[in-house]
Amino acid sequence: MWGFSSFRPLQREAMQAILAGRDSVVVLPTGGGKSLCFQAPALVRLATDASSAGRVPSNRPERLGFALVVSPLISLMKDQVDGLRVDGVAAAYLNSSLTPDERDAVLASLRNDECRLLYVSPERLVGEGSQGFRRMLQQTGVRFIAIDEAHCISQWGHDFRPEYRQLGRLRDDFPDVSLHAFTATATERVRRDIITELRLQDAAVLVGSFDRPNLTYRVLRRGNLHRQLLQILERHAGEAGIVYCGSRREVEALAVWLQGEGLRAAPYHAGLADDVRSRNQEAFLDERIDIMVATVAFGMGIDRSNVRFVVHAGAPRSPEHYQQESGRAGRDGLPAECVLIYSGADFVRWRQMLEMNGELTDSGRALLRDMERYAAGTRCRHRSLVEYFGEAYGRAECGACDWCLKELDAVADSTVVAQKILSCVARVKQAWGIGHVSDILIGRATEKVVASGHDDLSTFGLLKDESVTALRGYIEQLVGDGLLTRDGDPYPVLRLTPAGAALLRGEGACSLYREVQPPKSKKSVRGRRESVVADVDQEFFDALREVRLRLARERGVPPYVIFHDTTLRDMIQRRPRTLEDLHDIYGVGAKKAADFGDAFLDAIRTFRRPE
Ligand code: ADP
Ligand code: ZN
Repeated sequence: MWGFSSFRPLQREAMQAILAGRDSVVVLPTGGGKSLCFQAPALVRLATDASSAGRVPSNRPERLGFALVVSPLISLMKDQVDGLRVDGVAAAYLNSSLTPDERDAVLASLRNDECRLLYVSPERLVGEGSQGFRRMLQQTGVRFIAIDEAHCISQWGHDFRPEYRQLGRLRDDFPDVSLHAFTATATERVRRDIITELRLQDAAVLVGSFDRPNLTYRVLRRGNLHRQLLQILERHAGEAGIVYCGSRREVEALAVWLQGEGLRAAPYHAGLADDVRSRNQEAFLDERIDIMVATVAFGMGIDRSNVRFVVHAGAPRSPEHYQQESGRAGRDGLPAECVLIYSGADFVRWRQMLEMNGELTDSGRALLRDMERYAAGTRCRHRSLVEYFGEAYGRAECGACDWCLKELDAVADSTVVAQKILSCVARVKQAWGIGHVSDILIGRATEKVVASGHDDLSTFGLLKDESVTALRGYIEQLVGDGLLTRDGDPYPVLRLTPAGAALLRGEGACSLYREVQPPKSKKSVRGRRESVVADVDQEFFDALREVRLRLARERGVPPYVIFHDTTLRDMIQRRPRTLEDLHDIYGVGAKKAADFGDAFLDAIRTFRRPE
């Protein structure tokens, strides 16, 4: 049907829970294939359908019924329904974007038992005045209910939505229908909330691995942001990516600058007029734009699967957020890159902002510290993230992070350098911030340094051969390693921790690292990772992309709904000649082969490399 030859981890178990009518919570990372878990069971008859009168209206046992899918966003519903229809599945959604006629057609298809999956928003399902709607659903035969993005029910999730809270009443209205919650948010707390709020009974809890082996993680300290961005973009010419910024102003400025560099970029943030925002989003999904410069307002419901890089031009407020946002890269399983460009000041700004909104709770502070630890950390990034989510990491090296790729150079005499920094912090009585301390160490007689008499300290100019960026980097590493803390509002100051004091006394050792540039060209990045996907002929790939774009335009759907990049790559490697051959290609089901096969076979047959 979908043209996949095997299950992804936990998909089988998730489908079995649905088929057995057992409540479930399924936690899989972005791109883990959650949708298929509820889409496929919606098409097969449940084992219980025939025997249990409760699950199907008993007066019409011959009805197939449908799966009800709760989804928070119109764009998400539209995307999935478009995709299902291209695969030949009868699916529909009900939301405020439909005309009365369209809505009546959907309702008729339910009554006639001609719909296998119905997507609805929580407002429509359990909001005000929805009683009648639920009664109608009971009568037309809901087989099971899947709740997508179920973390929205929890205040501990990163995207709490009050209307999700009301979903608890589904248990009362559909007592015999099993409930299945799906989310990519991993924490235990969110999981517990979901189970409680939805009143799940004896739920199967399926939690997948949070590692995304196809993503390469890098962290850079912010220097010249434009130059740093260009270096990343050079590795991804013509590919899709997202650049996340902390503020609307930054979004606007970066988008304009990228356009000036001749790149196909557009801005996205909540302050743009609705039509501009949706136009830009459409353009990105339709591959008319490569780079989306955005605040975190851009994200959920972005199903473009061939996003090849996600850059954060500033630190997010928690590792959960980072995992979620960076996770939009490489959903197709092909190599993709996630770069965090940050400075210690980002965390100060976050603390101020949260404070201002009255959100600076203990947990908020702790999450910021966790994020800072990740950023300043000098160990495998995959390991850090996975362990953060409470999972053991089984590999010694990931081969896909700046640390394991040896893009960080160990500083000679690290311990001595660290002691010099710590001693300077002690000399200024642990009362000054990172800028002032680095000025002293580098030997810059700024007004502040002179006024406070710090140019007379023995530590003045002690590290004069270092660059400011490198020095600040070391200080942040010391914070990350727990040798220094950086606290206090509004001006955070550096203080020694007990471990830092011990190192200063000469107990123990530490290692500091300096960034070295990752490889410039796309080729060498890919070259290393040939095991994941062999490089394909770019011109051939572009030719197939053209065909895909044409078909997508004809149908008014985004290109990835036709075929993913993975499928095009597989075609290039295996050169199918017949429809028969085509069935063996990754992601090609019978319906798609019939609809699009000839167009692609033609293109493959006639492809000539331009002379
Ligand atoms: P999620 O909702 O978990 O982020 P999706 O359901 O969007 O993930 O699936 C991500 C991608 O993986 C989709 O392109 C989907 O077609 C593909 N996919 C899902 N299941 C499989 C499978 N068993 N084999 C190969 N590809 C799959
Ligand atoms: Zn690693």
